[in-house]
Amino acid sequence: MSANLFDLLASRFPADRSAPCFILPDGNQISYGALESAAARVAARLVADGVRPGDRVALQAEKSPEVIMVYLGVLMAGAVFVPLNAAYTRSEVDYFLGDAEPKIFITDPPAFVRETEGHDMLARAIPREAGDLASLIYTSGTTGRSKGAMLSHGNLAENALALHAAWGFTPRDVLLHALPVFHVHGLFVALHCALLSGAPIIWLPKFTDADVLAGLQRSTVMMGVPTFYTRLLANPAFNADAARNIRLFISGSAPLLPSTFAEFEQRTGQRILERYGMSEAVIITTNPLEGDRIAGSVGFPLPGVELRTDGEAGVIQIRGPSVFSAYWRMPEKTAAEFTIDGFFITGDVGRVDPDGRVWISGRAKDLIISGGYNVYPKEVELVLDELPGITESAVIGLPHPDFGEAVAAICTGQGEEAAIIAAARLQLAAYKAPKRVIFVPDLPRNAMGKVQKNLLRETYAGLFQP
Ligand code: AMP
Repeated sequence: MSANLFDLLASRFPADRSAPCFILPDGNQISYGALESAAARVAARLVADGVRPGDRVALQAEKSPEVIMVYLGVLMAGAVFVPLNAAYTRSEVDYFLGDAEPKIFITDPPAFVRETEGHDMLARAIPREAGDLASLIYTSGTTGRSKGAMLSHGNLAENALALHAAWGFTPRDVLLHALPVFHVHGLFVALHCALLSGAPIIWLPKFTDADVLAGLQRSTVMMGVPTFYTRLLANPAFNADAARNIRLFISGSAPLLPSTFAEFEQRTGQRILERYGMSEAVIITTNPLEGDRIAGSVGFPLPGVELRTDGEAGVIQIRGPSVFSAYWRMPEKTAAEFTIDGFFITGDVGRVDPDGRVWISGRAKDLIISGGYNVYPKEVELVLDELPGITESAVIGLPHPDFGEAVAAICTGQGEEAAIIAAARLQLAAYKAPKRVIFVPDLPRNAMGKVQKNLLRETYAGLFQP
């Protein structure tokens, strides 16, 4: 039997193919049948254009339902989907195209799909083995060259089935989708859960308060990055009534502040379910659907996932059905990031508590070494975030003539620098407390809500220089 992911997804589409798949902001709908036939036409066009199984098809475009038609068409054709962040510049795109060497690069999916109208469709998906490559996802690459994580049909299928079960999806669900689709969160996690349920998707081109507030009225599940939740909480119109219809709010891609979790519960009576994942493995752990969702913990490993921490450094290592096989054309990097017994070294630092819950305390690469002492930024951030006046902090290491690196905190909110440093010193060893505290209106974030510490390190590189 073929392990083509398309076949699994299509086997769960509603028997009545006129049922809606995408519900668009203008009220128009695209049915499951329309999605399926568009994918089959795209696949036929790709094959006619010379795309063979294993060939890459790259896409860089704004979010639209046609991106998904192309994605499914690429799967059907047995090719490899390479989505690129719409924000990448020309020179960044040149790097990705040079690395992935796609047969075809699509920049206007609506036109690409339109041109297939009236043409033949591929009768069935080209058979694939579970280990065959389905997608190359380039990591956000905050240090060094961005790497292409190779995800197979089996990786994606196993993760999709596990999430569908863990989060209790049924055909009665309606998914609110406001995430970008060049990243695993919007493309695989959210989309696959809905498609496996044959459920409708409220499809928003991006997050806007007005669209999301309206969409919540008609949805049952929302998936978002933490910024979605802080933005909702900043809007006085968001209250228990606005959230009434939703059975499950899910957060991931960046840490959800315990204060956001608490404020959300206070405002709506609902506890956000936080999960943890990455391009290299899609979702790894999740808080439970039934049972306690604990602020600050990312929950338990999904069934089949083995998770351990390397004793000394506390770096999380994982092995399991959704873990990628290799970085595209980077055998040395791949070898360096897997252990001898086949665990992927995630680079996230964390611990597993006696109940089996996983707690993440930061990224190994963000580790600050100040005067020879190791400082984990997360530990400092947790202290600062509790101080009155500070909304959120990002702790970074900056070049320092004496200490090598010195700890600096870039914060939102307000406060007096000397008082904050003094308050931090009461709770932290002197070498961990920030030597400078700088307030900014907003922390720079990427599209997935992650604070871009590399930008902060660049901006403030000279802070401690004489
Ligand atoms: P990406 O490959 O762009 O999805 O980034 C993956 C990284 O995001 C992980 O290695 C973590 O550092 C971070 N991440 C994802 N989800 C969470 C979470 N719930 N809490 C903390 N960090 C997270």
